[in-house]
Amino acid sequence: MQIVDGKPAGALSGETIDIACPSDGRVFASIPAAADADIDLAVAAARRAFERFAAVPAFERGRLLTRLSRLVEDNAEELAALESRDTGKPVRQGRADVAAAVRYYEFYGGAGDKIHGQTIPFLEGYTALTLREPHGVVAGIIPWNYPLQILARVAGAALAMGNTLVVKPAEDASLTTIRIAELALEAGFPAGVFNVVTGYGAKAGAALSGHHGVDYVTFTGSPATGTAIQQAAARNNRGVTMELGGKSPQIVFADADLDKALPVLVNAVIQNGGQTCSAGSRVLIERPVYERVAGALAERFQKLVAGPHEADLDLGALINAKQRDRVAAMVAEAESAGIKILARGTVSREAPSSGYYFAPVLFGDVPPDATIAQEEIFGPVLSLFPFDDEEDAIRLANSTDYGLVAGIWTLDGARQHRVAKRVRAGQVFVNAYGAGGGVELPFGGFKRSGHGREKGFEALYDMSATKTIVFNHG
Ligand code: NAP
Ligand code: MG
Repeated sequence: MQIVDGKPAGALSGETIDIACPSDGRVFASIPAAADADIDLAVAAARRAFERFAAVPAFERGRLLTRLSRLVEDNAEELAALESRDTGKPVRQGRADVAAAVRYYEFYGGAGDKIHGQTIPFLEGYTALTLREPHGVVAGIIPWNYPLQILARVAGAALAMGNTLVVKPAEDASLTTIRIAELALEAGFPAGVFNVVTGYGAKAGAALSGHHGVDYVTFTGSPATGTAIQQAAARNNRGVTMELGGKSPQIVFADADLDKALPVLVNAVIQNGGQTCSAGSRVLIERPVYERVAGALAERFQKLVAGPHEADLDLGALINAKQRDRVAAMVAEAESAGIKILARGTVSREAPSSGYYFAPVLFGDVPPDATIAQEEIFGPVLSLFPFDDEEDAIRLANSTDYGLVAGIWTLDGARQHRVAKRVRAGQVFVNAYGAGGGVELPFGGFKRSGHGREKGFEALYDMSATKTIVFNHG
């Protein structure tokens, strides 16, 4: 069921979509397939709720979010199991996603009343000040890879600032979003503040992003869909935040602490089956240690096993057959172009053949202009590139149209600073990568990776606008 104006709601048409578990391809649930008229109802509910919610003191809105964080924690096992079943991710990852969601609601529960305006020195006889005001109705279009986490970062920041929400999760992964909206009601959020509509992106998502009653749109997903959503929002000249994925490099210099780096390099591309916007999908290795690092990574890749979510192996199934086929086609293209496969993982024998599994692949000496070097694969596929020196590393790191995250592995402190400044990415980790969910850390892209910033305090600015008030008191 959708959640509209505080109540469960089917689609007006009565149409539904079957929901399959990626681990075995079997249908286990269904969701309403919303169309324009359903979106109208949800946006109208959010509009009606807006003025009253924006007038709730910031600390009270914070308390509602804090209560929601406790409820998410109290229901952690149920939510983790549901997320795993819906997306195919190992239960361990489902639990990590719940823990991050708890932190987002907790963080924004405490943050909304700490955003202050300014007083501005102005003309004699005047006082000028600024207020941070909510946009109004925020539309959140959420992808399928980390629904619990991405919903939490969107909803936490939007609600903390006094916006109301209409969320459209991906049709492949809507179930935990519906559950969180129910928990938000239980936490005490008034009806109409947190609405969820479900259905196909091209229909429900498109109707929502172009709706005249929506004041701001936030989206995480592919650049192509991001363009479509920006065009739809532009018809009403609405603001947008776009997080559009990456082709993120990790740069390994010869002096790196390899024992520390190796497990992180593997995990950064294997986590969630590589279906992660910040996946470290390119590893650039300084020539003197290239063979050694490539060999050690190959050894680890060979041991990786994909299997059903309950088996909690290195990775689960990919989200759907289309995504599995897309990853397989990119790997096949690279192979037929002669790019060398250094290692392959395996699919567990207990994995049903009806599931959407793909065994991890490690490519060596990848030409920097190859498709797998330039395009987001969103699967468990890692590409290795040798480099000659610092200048070469920076050039290679910046040689894609994306700029989301980067990792730098070196013990040379001056080099850490130089390279971190010159790599074009919204987040740069030094001797680490994507540590601990990073709820507090501003996140977003340069170039095709998008614009606007989520997470941390910065998201509160994206989810509000400055109003300047000038008093002439003589
Ligand atoms: P997508 O099209 O970008 O889907 C993301 C979200 O947008 C989903 O909720 C989707 O709904 C919705 N959507 C789709 N078309 C829409 C439209 N015209 N208007 C409004 N909303 C729309 O991604 P995908 O097709 O599922 O996956 C393709 C590729 O996108 C992946 O291989 C990956 O490279 C990239 N991707 C990136 C991220 C990320 O975190 N950066 C996340 C997901 C995918 P439905 O799913 O219900 O159609
Ligand atoms: Mg699903």
